[in-house]
Amino acid sequence: MLFEDLSLSKSIQKAVFEEGYTNPTPIQEKSIPIVLAGRDLIGCAQTGTGKTAAFAIPIIHQLHRIVGSSKKAKQIRALIVTPTRELAVQIGQSFDTYSKYTNLTQLTIFGGVSQNPQVDALKNGVDVLVATPGRLLDLHKQGFLDFNHLHTLVLDEADQMLDMGFINDVKKIVKLTPKNRQTLLFSATMPLAIRELAEMFLQDPEKVEVSPVSSTAENVEQRIYFVDKTEKRNLLYHLIKEQNLSNVLVFSRTKHGADNVVKALRKKDIPAEAIHGDKSQNARQRVLDAFKNKEVGVLVATDIAARGIDIEQLPYVINFDLPNIPETYVHRIGRTGRAGNGGIAISFCGKDEHPYWKDIQKLIKVDVKTITDHPYQWHAGSPEAGEKPKNSNRSGGAHKSRKSSASKQNKKRWY
Ligand code: AMP
Repeated sequence: MLFEDLSLSKSIQKAVFEEGYTNPTPIQEKSIPIVLAGRDLIGCAQTGTGKTAAFAIPIIHQLHRIVGSSKKAKQIRALIVTPTRELAVQIGQSFDTYSKYTNLTQLTIFGGVSQNPQVDALKNGVDVLVATPGRLLDLHKQGFLDFNHLHTLVLDEADQMLDMGFINDVKKIVKLTPKNRQTLLFSATMPLAIRELAEMFLQDPEKVEVSPVSSTAENVEQRIYFVDKTEKRNLLYHLIKEQNLSNVLVFSRTKHGADNVVKALRKKDIPAEAIHGDKSQNARQRVLDAFKNKEVGVLVATDIAARGIDIEQLPYVINFDLPNIPETYVHRIGRTGRAGNGGIAISFCGKDEHPYWKDIQKLIKVDVKTITDHPYQWHAGSPEAGEKPKNSNRSGGAHKSRKSSASKQNKKRWY
């Protein structure tokens, strides 16, 4: 199928063509006609499959028809709620790109920065609002948001919103919108709580699923290194140096851990930056931009960056620590191998993390290649291999429905 076959307005086709898209991705091919028909939709798709355009393009088409060249005051007609600030920025940019030949205006609002420019922009009127839950509710409480003309509500990365404890905020937000709205819900994984949410908020939704839930992209080559915990930094350095890796996204369990990895790499003259929840929003965006522009070779992130970051042709993702939530592994490694490109996902597994690795393998059902050719290994078959992590504080807000051995830890947020 070609984009031309989707009966989209010429202005959108032109913008999409300029982006180099000729064929819609499977999620786009299935979702766009449903959204254009005004139906509610539950979309289940892997990261990097073109999910953003799957909702942005038909929304822009619909609004372009409604608003056209009208000079009337603008009203919020589409609202996209998404869990992280980075993802909100990225979705906002996608809307700008696909709507650049229309008169539609888009605004992205999120916390951690001054609200004043956001409020000023709202006063000028916007057609599309992309928001993180906290700032949205805050500005609504202050009377700056009116959803009476809302046509479409998108709940993006719904499972992540659940994980991050946003679910009550999401429920509040949905109540602020008109009952006759169109609702689109996207999620990479479909735990029971998300299906319940969908039943509550969507009317007779169409369901679109482009690949098995929680599967990893086929074009990402996965490798596992069993490594002594105290040697992880040496192994990281070893890999970066020996294999001359650059453009590496490294995932660390904690903010403190991320900072330490950055310090250790810098000591060895490898330019690295950290991105996590303790950094100001401006610092986060600056570091992300520097990484995207290849000014920084290694970005060390907590899971705040696991979703949404879209870096064209990111070749390497390294799990310095394994996540205890298996789905998080899928999201992390989904940062590479996007839009049909290849990618390599390397994971370090310390003895104490072996139960997490078992859970991950159960979920992904992929025979991951074990790399033994390195100086810092321990063996998965050793007597301590099945040990549970001691005094572990990892969690990330596990899915309530998950019964994995490793995820019954406390649910404190650590990112
Ligand atoms: P997403 O899953 O929405 O984050 O998109 C992942 C990447 O795929 C982004 O870099 C998009 O620009 C790109 N993309 C989305 N749709 C298409 C398409 N139809 N053809 C080529 N690339 C696309």
